[in-house]
Amino acid sequence: AKGGGRNRFSYFTPTLQVAALNRMRLTNDLRGALKGGQLALYFQPIVHLRTGRIHKAEALIRWNHPQRGMVSPLEFIPLAEASGLIIDIGAWVLRESVQWVRRWRREHHPEFQVSVNQSPLEFQREDGSYQAWLGELQALDLPGQSVVVEITEGLLLDANSAVSNKLLQLRDAGIQVALDDFGTGYSSLSYLKKFDIDYLKIDRSFTRNLAPDSSDMALSDAIIVMAHKLGLRVIAEGVETAEQRDLLAAAGCDYGQGYLFAPPMPAEQFDALLKAPVQE
Ligand code: C2E
Ligand code: CA
Ligand code: CA
Ligand code: CA
Repeated sequence: AKGGGRNRFSYFTPTLQVAALNRMRLTNDLRGALKGGQLALYFQPIVHLRTGRIHKAEALIRWNHPQRGMVSPLEFIPLAEASGLIIDIGAWVLRESVQWVRRWRREHHPEFQVSVNQSPLEFQREDGSYQAWLGELQALDLPGQSVVVEITEGLLLDANSAVSNKLLQLRDAGIQVALDDFGTGYSSLSYLKKFDIDYLKIDRSFTRNLAPDSSDMALSDAIIVMAHKLGLRVIAEGVETAEQRDLLAAAGCDYGQGYLFAPPMPAEQFDALLKAPVQE
């Protein structure tokens, strides 16, 4: 009878238990991370392929955990979503982005834009925080065009009224929308007609295998032509080689983002990159 308690849990494999515990601990730590200043916003340049100029950046969150070091957003964003912490984290990302884009518009380019990622849960949520943030933009005299919101296809596929309303609100405020990870979902495409989207981000999985006459080249070509016909600009993710960049540029892709140009970096470092003389 004494061992019964333990046996009741014997259908859990040890690794599952460890994983579940790990998630619980990390979620707990995440609660403190925001207040404790452990979160940082990194920026990665989005490069205009024809001119090589940088007028856009994607904001990517980082968590510097006191014991574990850098924890990937792929690991902690799902925990933030499951626990509801994503709301506070998302609000922090927006506020932080606005401060930097304000500076870069003043000091680097008047049309500089920062792209922020939004989880479906965050995007669909109806509350005052978004309105408050729009108010902050206005108070800083920043047009909506300073910000691009990156969302994923899944959100548009089963778009409910909350999603449509949010898209309309953004549009009213002049904020642009990018469709992230394009090509990885169901890509029914009909939503491209239905919703007002400004940018398509071709997923890294296509960029990775680009070669002349490859099927991924054919797909990328087709995506770019279609996007342009619909009036969207195209950003290729995960550009790591000069060959990929050249193939994308030849296909008419508007922007590229990836380690070839620069990895995501702390804001101060990105600021220095913008100030550095252009390398030819
Ligand atoms: P994502 O939005 O698709 O972001 C692009 C990811 O690709 C980033 O990973 C970036 O560091 C990585 N990347 C950029 N260039 C290259 C390249 O040339 N090669 C390769 N292999 N990777 C490249 P990261 O920063 O680890 O972010 C992972 C995901 O976490 C993001 O994917 C996004 O979905 C999510 N995420 C990041 N920041 C936020 C945030 O502030 N809010 C929300 N809701 N999600 C975020
Ligand atoms: Ca993104
Ligand atoms: Ca992406
Ligand atoms: Ca993603």
